[in-house]
Amino acid sequence: MQLELPLAIAPATPPAGTLRYIQLGGEIVCYRFRRARRRSIGIMIDDDGLRVAAPGHAPIAEVEAFIREKARWVLQKLAEWRAAPKPQVVNWSDGASIALLGEPVTLELLPGRRGINLQNGRLGIGLEPRGEPAALRKRGIAWIKEHARSLMSERLSLYAASLGVPTPALALSSARTQWGLCQEGGRVRLNWRLIHLPLHLIDYVVAHELAHLREMNHSARFWAVVGGLYPDYKLARSELRQCNHRLPIL
Ligand SMILES: [Zn+2]
Repeated sequence: MQLELPLAIAPATPPAGTLRYIQLGGEIVCYRFRRARRRSIGIMIDDDGLRVAAPGHAPIAEVEAFIREKARWVLQKLAEWRAAPKPQVVNWSDGASIALLGEPVTLELLPGRRGINLQNGRLGIGLEPRGEPAALRKRGIAWIKEHARSLMSERLSLYAASLGVPTPALALSSARTQWGLCQEGGRVRLNWRLIHLPLHLIDYVVAHELAHLREMNHSARFWAVVGGLYPDYKLARSELRQCNHRLPIL
């Protein structure tokens, strides 16, 4: 017999891990399974759905029994995940839209022109003769990252001056779950994907990471430093929490 899988349950692009299926309360649920160096079985719902990690020695029957035990939680969380807004996948064609600094920007492919240029809400991309669509996407992303880097280093020096410290070295990251990081030694890493969000949210992340130069923790003293740099930090923090799903996939 062939199992018909409801489309909504299967992840769009199979991410890392083995895909497995389990029946929970009359529903066939797809999950990503991996072995990990850990003591117990762990389950979670992330951007791609249900994820299960188990110690190397745990038999698969034990893993499945564990998931069944948590069936109610799993089904409820999966329902919430399906109802949540999904990130927009950008197709790099003429007229497509990408959010930059919280505003929609329209892609304009320009045959016979060179370079990339952002003007009046349009991102003009020169089309090289015989250029491949994949190369176009790659050039577009490289441009967006560079744009992110120059804007972020500008904001970093602005807020560093306001904190009274020299501008720290900046590195870009592309982590999926972390906006920024202040490393020991004072290097700041910022997620280039922040460029999709409004400037005030980028500023909040910049202020947050800079404040770690004073306090390497999240104590009340730390938040006082953040507040000194960026008074409306509480609002920005909660806005940012809701932004994960709004970041487009380039
Ligand atoms: Zn922090």
